[in-house]
Amino acid sequence: MSIAIESYPFAPYRELSNTELCTRIQSAKKELGSSLLILGHHYQQDEVIQHADLKGDSYQLSKLAAESSECRTIVFCGVHFMAETADILANRSDRIAIRGGARVRVVLPDMAAGCSMADMAAIRQVEAAWDQLGDVIDTNDLTPVTYINSAASLKAFCGKHGGIVCTSSNAKAVLEWAFKQRKRVFFFPDQHLGRNTSLKMGITNDFMPVWNPHEEMGGNSREAIESSKVILWKGHCSVHQMFQADHVHSFRKRIEGIKILVHPECPQEVNDIADISGSTSKIIETVKQSPPGSKWAIGTELHLVDRLKKEHPEQEIHFLSPLVCMCATMYRIDLAHLCWSLENIVAGTIVNEIKVKEETARWSVVALERMLSVK
Ligand code: SF4
Repeated sequence: MSIAIESYPFAPYRELSNTELCTRIQSAKKELGSSLLILGHHYQQDEVIQHADLKGDSYQLSKLAAESSECRTIVFCGVHFMAETADILANRSDRIAIRGGARVRVVLPDMAAGCSMADMAAIRQVEAAWDQLGDVIDTNDLTPVTYINSAASLKAFCGKHGGIVCTSSNAKAVLEWAFKQRKRVFFFPDQHLGRNTSLKMGITNDFMPVWNPHEEMGGNSREAIESSKVILWKGHCSVHQMFQADHVHSFRKRIEGIKILVHPECPQEVNDIADISGSTSKIIETVKQSPPGSKWAIGTELHLVDRLKKEHPEQEIHFLSPLVCMCATMYRIDLAHLCWSLENIVAGTIVNEIKVKEETARWSVVALERMLSVK
């Protein structure tokens, strides 16, 4: 990560009205033209995502941005690991060659936009766990699988150890691939995606010990590790963790014909009883394809559900939880930070650049390319 050099200090941007910020954002975009791509994640607030050139989930966005030959700067309105993935994919050697040697600079408008799930698995903890597991089982029998919602260092770890990356769309296909290589999987950082996917493949909880990085041997007996098929990291998304089985029961009691649509980062008790469980893209597509009058209670990030409500007034859409479950870290990217980072780019100064170390990026690409090879 490079050190931010503030050509324009941030503080004055706090004082500007949203109208003024929007006008200045539009003018900076115009000036930068096709050399700039603003990426907006589906969970981003409306006032920010309206300025995005591309909208999508983290992997779709990074892939699309990497394909552009004109883009020289990406401003990622998402969270830290997403910006890292964009840097890795946009600056692969073949992409740099196509651009005649030019790198793409990736900017995260607010460095405090992290991800609680990604932060639950630090590389030193994963390496320590791998060593401890090696005292009980042969790690040559173990495929490390990291959810794309993780730091680049974890993706690189997977690349180095014969492992792979997965998304919430392809997790099942990736686990099937992993079991063709070796007999066990070490899945991090989201226990729920790992468990919900493995259960669908017929693996029961008896063979899925949970690894707590703060306890000796992850809090497990030798026998539990020896008989394991999937070792799940004790991590979760603080947003999707909030949905409960009671919320599902309550909607079914109150609204006749309602269907429950959830993300696989939700706990097992919710996934087991939902009508449909699927990635962000699948949730959006399911609603899009449904006839007028369809009734949904959706268990995923609040901003996305609110947007679906606005875009589909012909359907009845509810947020599954009575509580506000929104991605508070992504919410840190606001108009002021977006405007500040854009005007600095116009002035020739890149602030908040995300640059993954070369060695980490190289091994991350290995794990990402294995994922792409999985059909
Ligand atoms: S919704 Fe959850 S997994 Fe996604 S960025 Fe926010 S904290 Fe991370």
